[in-house]
Amino acid sequence: MSLQVQARVSLKPYNSFGVDVQARLFAQAHSDDDVRDALVYATQHEVPLLVIGGGSNLLLTADIQALVLRMATRGIRLLSDNGQQVVIEAEAGEPWHPFVQHTLAQGLSGLENLSLIPGTVGAAPMQNIGAYGVEIKDVFAGLTALDRRTGELRDFSLDECKFAYRDSLFKQEPGRWLILRVRFNLNRAEHLHLEYGPVRQRLTEQGIDRPTAGDVSQAICSIRSEKLPDPAVLGNAGSFFKNPLVPAALVTRLKAEFPDLVAYAQPDGQMKLAAGWLIERAGWKGFREADAGVHKLQALVLVNYGAATGLQLLDLAQRIQKDIWQRFQVELEMEPNRY
Ligand code: FAD
Ligand code: NAP
Repeated sequence: MSLQVQARVSLKPYNSFGVDVQARLFAQAHSDDDVRDALVYATQHEVPLLVIGGGSNLLLTADIQALVLRMATRGIRLLSDNGQQVVIEAEAGEPWHPFVQHTLAQGLSGLENLSLIPGTVGAAPMQNIGAYGVEIKDVFAGLTALDRRTGELRDFSLDECKFAYRDSLFKQEPGRWLILRVRFNLNRAEHLHLEYGPVRQRLTEQGIDRPTAGDVSQAICSIRSEKLPDPAVLGNAGSFFKNPLVPAALVTRLKAEFPDLVAYAQPDGQMKLAAGWLIERAGWKGFREADAGVHKLQALVLVNYGAATGLQLLDLAQRIQKDIWQRFQVELEMEPNRY
């Protein structure tokens, strides 16, 4: 067995909140064989298996009594190319943003709006990562996952993944599917999405009126770097709450009291509220207690100023949820995966 299993390993370097908890056992998978070895090891030693990628969507609230397997498999390959459309496949452990940059460098468009999202390729389908009007479902060509119940490999098509807003089959069936590699449909011709938030405005400010996919990526990287804390400097897991989807009637009622409420109509008739607006309006932006806080520039992001525990961050999140419910009768759902 090539898998190296270590006992009692701090997970602080392996979660972007920088929370210091220990894994009872820890290993890194560099191949499919390592993944299979880890499954066998966990069964033989009667410990649960927790798969992680970059740890950028985790809230760890206690020591993890499991074998924590960090996906570190690498590899990117072109599966088909008809001169216009390309199918490209990446291993689960490939870091997401360098993969996006790699596709752009090959003249391929489709992932530019998803630039600078932390984490790995393998975790991207878990919550159907999205930003600036694009989700991976929009460019998804398929994935291969290992069914941990049976040990069998299965290929998933777009429909089978049940992608939705920050959601998928893989999130709904936690611990069942271990994603090994993901495929994307990308284009040599550019179909850019510029209508979301400040993207076009940033390009205009830069004097770019006919942007390339690379220009869009750079604009999004600069917008994100200004607003979002870098986990290497200040621990965080990005947006801590999902934007709630609510009935239009509730928005009408809230708008009467809060005319500047931010809400976006959805194709199914529901409205999406900007959770960051609700939290900021409730006065939480910049709040800090001990080392747990709400980011000064983006109220949707909880931060760890150094020594916050997962439980302190969870407690803060629950207080925010309660307050938002009392003020607006809106339920906020946490986005990071809690262990
Ligand atoms: P992890 O945090 O390691 O894992 C997340 C979940 O996936 C866990 O439940 C884990 O068990 C599971 N998992 C991981 N790998 C696998 C695998 N191979 N097979 C099966 N299960 C697996 N998200 C967005 O959607 N849009 C954004 O714009 C965005 N911006 C962010 C900005 C910042 C600064 C930060 C810190 C986070 C942001 N996120 C965003 C959240 C996060 O980066 C993404 O959800 C990312 O896809 C998580 O990847 P990861 O590898 O770090 O996953
Ligand atoms: P923003 O541009 O300030 O916008 C605030 C919210 O309004 C966003 O959450 C976004 O919802 C929504 N929104 C803005 N323009 C919209 C439009 N034209 N149509 C529909 N909805 C619109 O948001 P931000 O915080 O700076 O983030 C920018 C993008 O990066 C967003 O897409 C956000 O989701 C993504 N992001 C995600 C995370 C994460 O951890 N999940 C972290 C950082 C950034 P949506 O969130 O639904 O897009």
